[in-house]
Amino acid sequence: MEHWSAQGLRYLKGVGPKIAEKLQKLGLKTQRDLLFHLPLRYEDRTYVSALGSLQSGRRSQIEAEVLHAGVHFRRQGRSRRVLVAKLADNTGVITVRFFYFNANQQQQFEKGNWLRCFGEVRSAQGELEMIHPETELIDVDNPAPLPITLTPIYPTTEGLHQLSIKRILQQVIAKLKSDGIAETLPQSWLDQNSFPDFASAMIDLHSPESRQDSELIASNEHPAQYRFIVEELAAHRLALLERRRQIRGRKTPLIEPDEQLQQRLCQALPFELTGAQQRVLDELMQDFAAGKPMIRLVQGDVGSGKTVVAALACLPVIESGYQAALMAPTEILAEQHYQNFCDWLQPLGIIPVNLLGADKGKKRAGKAEMIASGEAAVVIGTHALFQESVEFKRLGFIIFDEQHRFGVDQRLALQRKTRDDEMPHQLIMTATPIPRTMAMSIYADLDYSQIDELPPGRKPVTTSIVSEQQRANLIHRVASSCAEGGQVYWVCTLIEESDALQCEAAEMTYESLRQQLPQLSVGLVHGRLKTAAKEAAIIAFKNREVDILVATTVIEVGVDVPNASIMIIENPERLGLAQIHQLRGRVGRGARESFCILLVKNSLSELARTRLEIIRSTQDGFSIAQKDLELRGAGEVLGTRQTGEMSFKIADLTRDQKWFAQVEGLARLMQQPQHAEERIELLCNWIGERQDYTGVG
Ligand code: ADP
Ligand code: MG
Repeated sequence: MEHWSAQGLRYLKGVGPKIAEKLQKLGLKTQRDLLFHLPLRYEDRTYVSALGSLQSGRRSQIEAEVLHAGVHFRRQGRSRRVLVAKLADNTGVITVRFFYFNANQQQQFEKGNWLRCFGEVRSAQGELEMIHPETELIDVDNPAPLPITLTPIYPTTEGLHQLSIKRILQQVIAKLKSDGIAETLPQSWLDQNSFPDFASAMIDLHSPESRQDSELIASNEHPAQYRFIVEELAAHRLALLERRRQIRGRKTPLIEPDEQLQQRLCQALPFELTGAQQRVLDELMQDFAAGKPMIRLVQGDVGSGKTVVAALACLPVIESGYQAALMAPTEILAEQHYQNFCDWLQPLGIIPVNLLGADKGKKRAGKAEMIASGEAAVVIGTHALFQESVEFKRLGFIIFDEQHRFGVDQRLALQRKTRDDEMPHQLIMTATPIPRTMAMSIYADLDYSQIDELPPGRKPVTTSIVSEQQRANLIHRVASSCAEGGQVYWVCTLIEESDALQCEAAEMTYESLRQQLPQLSVGLVHGRLKTAAKEAAIIAFKNREVDILVATTVIEVGVDVPNASIMIIENPERLGLAQIHQLRGRVGRGARESFCILLVKNSLSELARTRLEIIRSTQDGFSIAQKDLELRGAGEVLGTRQTGEMSFKIADLTRDQKWFAQVEGLARLMQQPQHAEERIELLCNWIGERQDYTGVG
């Protein structure tokens, strides 16, 4: 029979279809999932405070008698009913107020009743009060016993009451206590590191016994947390290593070296490859020669010239009779890569094809046909390439540009697009630098190369922080730069969740700049425009038909217009530092001296100032990313790699770096054959259904 922890939630009391759906919304499907639904915080309800001892601002538990209660009306916009009651014990009195209440609650407040209340104590005009406390009717001679452990407060969702979720969790904890659960880690390792076993760690986290425990938990310093943090990180690392092992074992396209085409392309380029570009290209060629699937991450700061390396790497693939695919995170970038690839490859007789989400009907069918027949040697696109309907004849090489925006699921989808069971070679390019220790955890499945050199002649971008009051001056400066033939990016930002608002802000700025600078041509590009309109705006900017391009952060990655030398970023404090650095990388690509102007509101927080100061004073993407990680945490900085495939239940890559050595040790131990069963159990538990990803099951 299925172990209780693997069972669905419907076996629990109080979980009907409706509640089950709410729980599912919280990502909870099995009883084991529930165990990992850990409290946000705890309340100490193990004792009752005398009214005379209450302190304002403290959440407290009291037991008191109702002196009198009544419903008052007050006018405030709409008239509202307020339930007000006065309670007392033999040490003092307190007022309790409810702005929303039902008949049941009202009944509790009958004169002479004793109530146990829990809530925050406030003092209003010298009197103590509680607003909306939790209340419970008690028999004063024989009150229900107080809890002996702290009371957990769980994350919940709309329509799911704290009390309901608490009751559900209590059942699962009770089962854990009575029936136990399989230990997921080798006992020897637990003993060595003095980590608690699964069940007792879990029980500690749900119902800690002392305030000291809850304080340790609040600061993530409890041994029970350590245990699960290390376990979770090790599970992820093992999953990646396992995936790597499986991929390495697969058949892969045989790519013959082809220096002749590469030489021809290099000779046609208006520049020489940097040493770092050449070195990384050599590494890619060695991967091809090794006869195993390449899975390599190439990191190179903005402007380090990753694209041309990718193009050069495609040549032997094509010569060996395979197709190459390049995936970009945005249509704008896909379009730009397509243009570059056409410029570079067409003279060699190679035809790139671009496939965008906007391609429909006949156009799309035509392109699909070229891809299916193999006529398209290089295919460049966005996620549109993942669609079921796209079939490659012989896909041998996939390049993911700025890959932290692609999840593993998508990568797998593209891999399935190969015939003959061959695993295509994979190259992942990113400008986001990742500290080495962290890379080990996140990218354990990948080899790693770095383009650690910028092409010669790049001038540093002078960055300044300018206040909103200087806007008029700034516009003046923009006008004079454009009069001298310069071009300007004007970037409007808003919180990322609200794409719509961001577009709106860009439209407003666009209109006002057009009015203020009638002599100049202003362009607009944002995410809500049709692809063709976006393309047209970028192309016009590239061709210098547009002086000022107003944009949202859609231009963050990769857009390359060397003549643009000024970038203005509005509300930069809303962006991550790495993101600002990416944006800034759009300027400083040409001969002109370049400027990045961070246009800020006057009321910046201390933290925001500190962050922007880092950007202002640093050009090095690596140290910017490191500091950003420290300030904001890994999830924010590394983006969707986590949300797609690495959402951690407990661990946090930034906070938990101190555990990486233990993680490594545990992962090594569990890779040994005698731990195979435990390993599979561990992967199933933590990585779950993503079987493709773990290769388990
Ligand atoms: P990123 O690494 O940010 O993707 P790109 O590949 O877009 O950088 O390259 C940025 C710019 O630098 C492009 O205009 C590209 O043509 C140019 N470039 C690439 N390599 C070199 C080089 N070795 N010397 C000079 N310019 C180069
Ligand atoms: Mg790029």
